[in-house]
Amino acid sequence: MPHQPPSPVGFDAFVHVRGAREHNLKDVDVDLPRDAIVVFSGISGSGKSSLAFGTLYAEAQRRYLESLSPYARRLIDQVGVPDIDAIDGMPPAVALQQQRGTPNVRSTVGSITTLSSLLRMLYSRAGTYPPRQPMLYAEDFSPNTPQGACPTCHGLGYVYTVKDEAMVPDPSLSIRDRAIAAWPPAWHGQNLRDILVTLGYDVDKPWRELPKKDRDWILHTDEQPVVPVYAGFTPAETRAALRRKTEPSYMGTFTGARRYVLDTFANTQSALMKKRVARFMSGTTCATCDGRRLKREALSVTFAGLDIGTLSRLPLADIAELLAPAAKGRFDTPVATATRSRAAGRKDIARRVAAGGLPHTGGTDVRRTANLSEEKRIAAQRITRDLIGRIESLQGLGLGYLALDRSTPTLSSGELQRLRLATQVRSNLFGVVYVLDEPSAGLHPADAEALHAVMGQLKAAGNTLFVVEHDLDTLRRADWLVDVGPDAGQHGGRVLYSGPPLGLRDIEASHTRRYLFDAVPTRRRTPRHPSGWLELLGIQRNNLHGLDVRIPLGAFTSVTGVSGSGKSSLVSQALVELVGEHLGHEPAVEESSDDMPLPDAITRTAGRLGAGVGAIRRLVNVDQKPIGRTPRSNLATYTGLFDHVRKLFAATRAAKARRYGVGRFSFNVAQGRCPTCEGEGFVSIELLFMPSVYAPCPTCHGKRYNEKTLEIEWNGRNIAQVLGMTVDEALSFFADEAPVHRALALLHGIGLGYLRLGQPATELSGGEAQRIKLATELQRSQRGDSLYVLDEPTTGLHPFDVDKLMVQLHGLVDAGNTVVVVEHDMRVVADSDWMIDVGPGAGEKGGRIVAEGVPQDVASAGVGATAPYLQRALS
Ligand code: ADP
Ligand code: ADP
Ligand code: ZN
Ligand code: ZN
Repeated sequence: MPHQPPSPVGFDAFVHVRGAREHNLKDVDVDLPRDAIVVFSGISGSGKSSLAFGTLYAEAQRRYLESLSPYARRLIDQVGVPDIDAIDGMPPAVALQQQRGTPNVRSTVGSITTLSSLLRMLYSRAGTYPPRQPMLYAEDFSPNTPQGACPTCHGLGYVYTVKDEAMVPDPSLSIRDRAIAAWPPAWHGQNLRDILVTLGYDVDKPWRELPKKDRDWILHTDEQPVVPVYAGFTPAETRAALRRKTEPSYMGTFTGARRYVLDTFANTQSALMKKRVARFMSGTTCATCDGRRLKREALSVTFAGLDIGTLSRLPLADIAELLAPAAKGRFDTPVATATRSRAAGRKDIARRVAAGGLPHTGGTDVRRTANLSEEKRIAAQRITRDLIGRIESLQGLGLGYLALDRSTPTLSSGELQRLRLATQVRSNLFGVVYVLDEPSAGLHPADAEALHAVMGQLKAAGNTLFVVEHDLDTLRRADWLVDVGPDAGQHGGRVLYSGPPLGLRDIEASHTRRYLFDAVPTRRRTPRHPSGWLELLGIQRNNLHGLDVRIPLGAFTSVTGVSGSGKSSLVSQALVELVGEHLGHEPAVEESSDDMPLPDAITRTAGRLGAGVGAIRRLVNVDQKPIGRTPRSNLATYTGLFDHVRKLFAATRAAKARRYGVGRFSFNVAQGRCPTCEGEGFVSIELLFMPSVYAPCPTCHGKRYNEKTLEIEWNGRNIAQVLGMTVDEALSFFADEAPVHRALALLHGIGLGYLRLGQPATELSGGEAQRIKLATELQRSQRGDSLYVLDEPTTGLHPFDVDKLMVQLHGLVDAGNTVVVVEHDMRVVADSDWMIDVGPGAGEKGGRIVAEGVPQDVASAGVGATAPYLQRALS
């Protein structure tokens, strides 16, 4: 059915919104066309998401739930309904939001795109089985089921080992001088040393001079002898005490170093301890399954010459290529390598022999003809076609470099959203509203072309797209633009304009207008002269193979390149790790888990730092990871300003009279907080088939504190009211309290004045979390020898907010620091002192330096994918 896209002037159906008051929305009435791409613009905090997600999507969701059951209806009452008078003409909606909070470690590219389940079906139904092996079910090909998982590694693909060199990094030290770095610090470490003394080991000899047998036992034993300990005794005194059977200080339990590391890693509740011991561990590929995560029987089944585990590690683009012949009904493919073909050929022939079809020749032919039964052929062709179609939509969005087994926590939120988007394109829904949150995030302007094409496809299929977006190019291409503002929080929440993009030109109050129509000239300034160069040599990480690169010190550098080219591998991984290691930071382990961290959290970058590293004394990685994973952490606690606020409350006369200390005003301490929600302000409600939702606590209604605590006021406000203030409100309320005021002023300066002090970490976007981290960092005194690393700091930011951010970052460089950003926004790149363009393509087609230099020079040279876009920004 060919669908006629509506012309920008004549839309025939509209969604009518009346009286929207969610969050900061000011009784908004607006009509939005259907079967069109509608983009919501406005500065950060203006109310775009409150309109698109909080109102439109939430209402569609509510109606859907309501149609289900009375039970669901009751839940909706508890969760709350959007504050709105009426919405007419709203079709069912699907939301593709940026990930907030931590995603599931076990989820992979294959699982969220459903490609993995299709592949499992393919192998189960149409795979080549060894002779006499019965057919397997699809679940047998899943490493996440007990039927499918490799029994050795339980489907993880790797096992943990603890290496001697890691546990004892400096064998010239004695045990007393802490040769065994893996042992716990402080008292517990001393205790283990004293036990060794009792056991008769020499703790004063250099480690390497101890007999191998002793060293092995101390590091690797699983025995846990319990022996008398004489605390504070010398070895000689201990021996004497043992002979005399003197009463010991206590009985101590010995634990070998390896066992200590593994037990602590598996059992500790403390993230810090987990991080500490993770340093001594390495993830090694499981020898049983060779990292393919499946049981032997499953791995013996092949398709196109490969087992499913091997196939899942290939980039999607390669999988599509491998499956292409089968999709065309050709199964007589030459198989990939000689070894594989020989094995496969032999098996295949054996199978035919077993089936009574062929005399046994025993020969090995390199070209083989898979003799699939007719039924299998049909299944194979149908499934491979479907697979290829799905992969093509992913390739279209620039994601062909991803492998199926890539875990989603290692993806950027932009990659994740595009994965979901591509999956939707294939779902053939129509008459649906897709609500998208900044789909251009993480996309190089060259990749964005593909995104626009996919959005066009969804529209052409008869759907409506509501898109929250900052990218000016996307704004220009919209059929309809809704500009929200003019400013953030209570100074926003109005619809300034709703109509075709060009009409925004006349709206004076709009910040967006300036960037869209006025040729805001990119600030031309003379690039700074670097104070030196930091060299990175022989970098090996993901798709970087022995890369050498230099970064100017005391300057602002942008690293650019298409999605998947290796920017993050170079900056957020290699640079951060090598400099961190040099400075003696503990390597960061993904805080993903109750689960085990992934091996890539433990694998290190290979390579080294050359000249220039001496000039860096501090490393600050300002990433977009959440500032906390529970509603307990919030803006006020993270920045430290809440400590000052609590002191103010504890110092009031009323608090002193009741002997309330600072702890009383913490919602993490039992005395002061609400007992029902234990200070969370929310209780969580489990929904069937859906993520659980938070509803306000029925006792304190979100105030988090008990009545007694709330009776204490400072300047007429109680502690819950303070947490309810926005940064801007608090700015005047705490005008005379220097430490609080200073922190607030920085948050305001970076465009976060609209956030509430108590806004839970779980409600913050990645971009907000990143700016909170930056503001917290800016509170410190600047010594001028720090390296700041930011991965896509402009994500989620309106150009107006980007300008504010750039002022802060340039301030850091002016103070003598070095700033390195990964960036797609050409306005930012143009405003840098230096740029490094990585590419030319994605995955293994990238990973090299294509161009580097002063942005103006790179643009004029015209080399690399970025130059043409940069040229436009500079002209
Ligand atoms: P935008 O999407 O334009 O950045 P939002 O719609 O997220 O803006 O926010 C608009 C206003 O609503 C801000 O003042 C913000 O602090 C507030 N707000 C956002 N989410 C919530 C929430 N869950 N509860 C209360 N206020 C919120
Ligand atoms: P960019 O930042 O330019 O988008 P990345 O550095 O994230 O690119 O990715 C470069 C290549 O390395 C891609 O092929 C990507 O799939 C791969 N890669 C990145 N991170 C990981 C990881 N944690 N595990 C495996 N492969 C990764
Ligand atoms: Zn295994
Ligand atoms: Zn409560």
